[in-house]
Amino acid sequence: MVDYTLARRSAISSLRRGRLDTSDVCDAHPELLRAAKNIGDAVPGQCPICSHESLRWVRYVYGDELKRDSGRVVYPAAWLSELASAHDSFTCYLVEVCVDCAWNHLVRSYMAGRRYQALASHPSSRGRR
Ligand SMILES: [Zn+2]
Repeated sequence: MVDYTLARRSAISSLRRGRLDTSDVCDAHPELLRAAKNIGDAVPGQCPICSHESLRWVRYVYGDELKRDSGRVVYPAAWLSELASAHDSFTCYLVEVCVDCAWNHLVRSYMAGRRYQALASHPSSRGRR
């Protein structure tokens, strides 16, 4: 799992110091914004840019194995476990999006799929099949 907290923090501080323009960071793709508005998970806390409580999390999946599904937004949430049991390995990206000012930043990325299922599965979920 890769955590992008530091990259996020440095983007915010570059912005505050004037080394980045808000247009550099508040550039969420219209599709990403739409996904955030319609299906994003509300995140507690304020947007680092506009201070509104309008942050959402959107999950994406990428991977050659996923074929046409690569690059899609994960919706509904249960689709992720379906993908994980149908494929060996793919990458999941969690993106923070502000639906007000279009700030967006990668929060973390991690591997998912059957190869990682054994590590991730909770003891209580064992033997369900
Ligand atoms: Zn904002």
